[in-house]
Amino acid sequence: MPQARLPDINTAYIKYRTEAIMALKQRNWGILHGCLTAINGLLPPEYQVIISSVDYNQQAKTEITYHCNHCEKDVEKEYIKIFELMPNAMQLLLHGHNANKVWNCIKCHKLNQLDNTRVSKTILQNPTFLGVVPDPPSRTNGLMDRMKFNIEIERWGWLTLGELEFKMGKFRDDNWKRGDNDDISNQLDFSLDNKDGAE
Ligand SMILES: [Zn+2]
Repeated sequence: MPQARLPDINTAYIKYRTEAIMALKQRNWGILHGCLTAINGLLPPEYQVIISSVDYNQQAKTEITYHCNHCEKDVEKEYIKIFELMPNAMQLLLHGHNANKVWNCIKCHKLNQLDNTRVSKTILQNPTFLGVVPDPPSRTNGLMDRMKFNIEIERWGWLTLGELEFKMGKFRDDNWKRGDNDDISNQLDFSLDNKDGAE
């Protein structure tokens, strides 16, 4: 990346971000989408935010795992099928009338009793910048759909802008804070940034 391009990128970035925030406030979704796409386009590919619902859902999902007491491995919830074993006479005697809830480990194929299974839940900390956002919501017909659409696209807009801010910050840190381009850093006008951030 030629150093001379950096101030241009910064200037364009500030302009698009100001416009994107304005568009969010005015609910002008076409302009919002255009500005966010433009900011992404300013960034070199390795800093760009990926827009993909498939990738986003994969990364943002809550991970629930069941721990197998036989092979000591963790199995994701989607692979767990719980079923009931009818109690035999001895179990009836010991535990009363309850059926045995069990699940079959896909890794060692042994049965685990649900009662004795350790279940873990992994949730992403907030804020977490994944570098990926879902596809923008699409507009459908009908008044209720439009209200829902407005809420969803606003949420999408802020999410995407936040991710872009994070990437742009990283891009700046990686490229503009080295000693060898102090002269470029001095040329940058960051004053608009603070004004935007204070809103
Ligand atoms: Zn197992």
